[in-house]
Amino acid sequence: IAEKETLGFQAEVKQLLQLMIHSLYSNKEIFLRELISNASDAADKLRFEAINNDALYGNDHELKIIVSFDKDAKTITISDNGIGMSRDEVISHLGTIAKSGTKEFFGKLSGDQQADAALIGQFGVGFYSGFIVAERIIVNTRRAGAFASEGVRWESCGEGDYSVEPIEKTNRGTDVILHLRDGEEELLSSWKLKSVIRKYSDHISLPIQMRKEEWDAEKNEQVIKDEFETINQASALWARNKSDVTQEQYDEFYKHVSHDFQAPLTLTHNRVEGRSEYTQLLYVPSHAPFDLWDRNKRGGIKLYVKRVFIMDDAEQLMPAYLRFIKGVIDSNDLPLNVSREILQESRDVKVIREGSTKRVLGMLEELANADEQEKKDKYTTFWKEFGQVLKEGIGEDATNKDRIAKLLRFASTANDSGEQTTSLAEYVSRMKEGQTKIYYVAGDNFIAAKNSPHLEIFRKKGVEVLLLTDRVDEWMLSFLTEFEGKELVSVAKGDLDLGALEDEAEKKEHEETETSYKDLVEKMKTALGEKAKDVRITFRLTDSPACLVADENELSGNLLRMLKAAGQ
Ligand code: ADP
Ligand code: MG
Repeated sequence: IAEKETLGFQAEVKQLLQLMIHSLYSNKEIFLRELISNASDAADKLRFEAINNDALYGNDHELKIIVSFDKDAKTITISDNGIGMSRDEVISHLGTIAKSGTKEFFGKLSGDQQADAALIGQFGVGFYSGFIVAERIIVNTRRAGAFASEGVRWESCGEGDYSVEPIEKTNRGTDVILHLRDGEEELLSSWKLKSVIRKYSDHISLPIQMRKEEWDAEKNEQVIKDEFETINQASALWARNKSDVTQEQYDEFYKHVSHDFQAPLTLTHNRVEGRSEYTQLLYVPSHAPFDLWDRNKRGGIKLYVKRVFIMDDAEQLMPAYLRFIKGVIDSNDLPLNVSREILQESRDVKVIREGSTKRVLGMLEELANADEQEKKDKYTTFWKEFGQVLKEGIGEDATNKDRIAKLLRFASTANDSGEQTTSLAEYVSRMKEGQTKIYYVAGDNFIAAKNSPHLEIFRKKGVEVLLLTDRVDEWMLSFLTEFEGKELVSVAKGDLDLGALEDEAEKKEHEETETSYKDLVEKMKTALGEKAKDVRITFRLTDSPACLVADENELSGNLLRMLKAAGQ
């Protein structure tokens, strides 16, 4: 059997600990939420493993979390009878940070405390937040199914290293024991702990218990009894009626499922009945995660079947272009032993995905079309954070393409600002008399697009042009060729037909010019030979002498550059 061993933290853990203790102190109570959240996850994991191995429960089927404190020893203990950890698991889970996005996160740290404090709130700190209030943390744990002699003790002062050693542990699960720093004594009160639990952890679906306290008139003081009482509501939040859940509870539940520290932008909570029965509680985060563009990243949906946790990141439940959505889906129809492979083929899953997609689009429409400024601002935030991802839906989701098109926002020559605020509907409502098409120009960036020589004639005639600068734009537009019957056309492509926007006199003048320059054009064609496909007289320029245009059916200059950059 292994002896006590001292190991060094991964460099990132050291950095995180330093940063966290200093920057999160003003919000120190969150350590309890994080540790309770871990205990609840541990119970979920045990329930899931026990689906195929009931013996893991032993004779202890009642999953719960117990919070206790000891005034004399100055400790707070959070105990659970969940899955527990083996020695290897302790080392990898409590000695390193395995979260996705870790590299990006540490790459963004600037050394400026205030800026970094804001970042850490987005990253999520989890277990290590215990060190905000504790000078030493001891974890005693035993994995479900392991022998009493296979317990493990982890211990650290949250500086450079930690120790692990084997211990006897009579029961399954994990005890996290916090030895409080001087000055944190106010936490050693059942009133204080209860209020923190109710504030942050009321949504946790298993009971969080504390010892009862009673006033003893003879001794004239509070005495702690042997009995336990449950502090939280202890029912799955998504299974409650909407009217029984407060905004704060929804927000805290979001933080629990998403590991995000900031409140969500908006949410939708529904019980769906009919061919497929399920409950969905879905959130739009208020900021993009560090790994939004990570191709290996899965979805943010936790799947439950009849309240039993089945898996995290059930990517089949949401289309890829909504991968930023977080939340819970609880199905009444799927089998408990459902696997990722089964999910892929399941008709029930298809129904759930379609239903959830519609809900999410509905939730976004509600913000996008709202009259209240608060909701409008939320949509602006949403668009800044996730607009580029939503655009993927135009190509990916033919069924909902029209709804997604209405949610798109673009920069435009109408205000010449880089902010993407113009919807296609707004554009259409501002169209000039006689204008039949929606015009856009694509560029590498806002300045390039705004100063494109192709815009000259449009500016002169006062015709609005959308300025597209995101990498996905041209790909998206290959799927979005019209909006409400109006063709979307690039001002940089082919023979620009301004239709009724050109008046008769102009047309005549143009024809005359073309005839008189015919010879010159022929000479230029011969001189350029293979280098140019065609040479034409143009009327779209007002200040520049010449410009390059792409053929109607060819990739535009911008798309060509993009494909080259991608190595194609
Ligand atoms: P996160 O919860 O986001 O994964 P944490 O820092 O909170 O990150 O926890 C790190 C890991 O440590 C968890 O993913 C889990 O594997 C393990 N862990 C923490 N607390 C417990 C616990 N009470 N029981 C079992 N495993 C735990
Ligand atoms: Mg955690």
